Amino acid sequence: MKHYTKQYIAGVWREGSSDKQLETCNPYTNEMIYSYRAASTQDVDDAYAAAKAAQPAWAATLPEERRTYLKALANVVRDMEPEIFQLLMEESGGTRAKFAFEYGDTLKVIDDAMCYHMMMDGRIAPSNTPGKDNYIFKIPKGVVCVIAPFNFPLLLSMRSIVPAIACGNTVVLKPSSETPGSGFQIAEMFEKAGFPKGVLNVVAGRGSEIGDYIVSHPTPSLVSFTGSTEVGKHIGEIAGGLLKDVSLELGGNQVMIVLDDADVDQAAKAAIVGSYSHQGQICMALNRVLVTPKVYDQFIELFVKYSKQVKCGDPADDAVVIGPLINHDQVKKVEENINATLKAGGKVELEGKIEGNVISPWILSGVSNDMCAAKCEIFAPVTSIIPVKDEEEAIRVANETNYGLSNCIFTKDLYKGLELARRMESGMAHVNDQSITHEPHVMFGGEKDSGVGRFNGHWVVDKFTTEKWVSVQRTDRY
Ligand code: NAP
Repeated sequence: MKHYTKQYIAGVWREGSSDKQLETCNPYTNEMIYSYRAASTQDVDDAYAAAKAAQPAWAATLPEERRTYLKALANVVRDMEPEIFQLLMEESGGTRAKFAFEYGDTLKVIDDAMCYHMMMDGRIAPSNTPGKDNYIFKIPKGVVCVIAPFNFPLLLSMRSIVPAIACGNTVVLKPSSETPGSGFQIAEMFEKAGFPKGVLNVVAGRGSEIGDYIVSHPTPSLVSFTGSTEVGKHIGEIAGGLLKDVSLELGGNQVMIVLDDADVDQAAKAAIVGSYSHQGQICMALNRVLVTPKVYDQFIELFVKYSKQVKCGDPADDAVVIGPLINHDQVKKVEENINATLKAGGKVELEGKIEGNVISPWILSGVSNDMCAAKCEIFAPVTSIIPVKDEEEAIRVANETNYGLSNCIFTKDLYKGLELARRMESGMAHVNDQSITHEPHVMFGGEKDSGVGRFNGHWVVDKFTTEKWVSVQRTDRY
């Protein structure tokens, strides 16, 4: 297994120049996989200088040329499939099923981006001045800073990098310190696909050390951040002060509403996917399930039954659904949240085991929104079941959170489902499906503390471009 220890700047692999030596550990075995010298602020300067130098020529490439580069990138990603899986599994504890989702959607993101250049069409607007033509051009933003989280280090980096580059921007990526190898592996993909030097640069170092410097640097005109609400707000403050544009894809606290007329078996099976995919470490994962009285006991019975069938343990085992959390600190935090919820009156319906960093499913019932497990983004296979008396109470309880990313509702009355989904204060809401739903050509994004901005399709093209008015006076005006 190849391990990456060098930064990728201006098309050159070089050791970070910080005096900090950082280590990456396998979250399942807790063994150190590799160590590397972190990037310094000088490395950040060099990465931005390379991106800035490369951008005009990159923006001048023809649509067909850019498409050819992206096709080459997709081929490289296909060729590297086994090693990509191996790294995601070793570095972030991702299972085979999680890999299928992340890898498959990454290829779709690249595929869709092949036509983004062609979507950068401008307008010719009428003028009130005789002899004047008004042209509005859609142009790249310039240099884009991408900051990625640990949980889907491939997809959530590529979801920003690929559209940015497809629209004629160049990029500096800062991967999570938990999963820097995945960031460097992306650099290798771009190198192998033959992209010009400087189009993508990758600098890895701790956000607490170089993060503010990366965000406040004068070169990038857009910061595309995916991560926690806490860090996202901090980045938003810095960027706002500097009048830099941001795309902030942040945390969530999802609900599934199960109404009296729901197909309860479908809802329970969907809750398994929504709660346990990537051990609950997904921004769209289910935190809370709100159930109305007639189906409350039946839902719990089925959810517990299916949860007991979920295999937990070594992510290298293809049958495993729940692998390890990213590190031991996260495990301790989850344990504290569960204990606080039980102390506040929550009841255990299924007691999970904690073995190393692997937590098997916990199901808590009789929970209310003010209890820890329901209130915070739990980011683990722990689900809180909240009884609600009817659909009105369900909507009120669902919306009683600062987050607003992706919710879902189960009812056989599809029109009622649609109406209630529209009343949920979230960027996304699904009827008769679970909350972890992503289609790379459909809009993605949150409301409230879950973020600012939209991804995918024409939404991302708009985000990664700006518009410029150029007028031409054809006849003498003065
Ligand atoms: P995080 O702690 O916020 O870190 C995200 C990234 O920000 C990392 O690369 C981190 O670097 C960096 N960072 C930290 N401090 C920074 C600073 N001052 N300036 C610039 N960058 C800084 O999030 P995480 O734990 O990796 O990811 C989990 C969170 O992301 C959850 O809340 C989840 O819901 C959210 N998420 C949201 C979406 C979405 O699409 N809405 C998708 C996935 C995840 P270091 O690792 O070096 O600290």
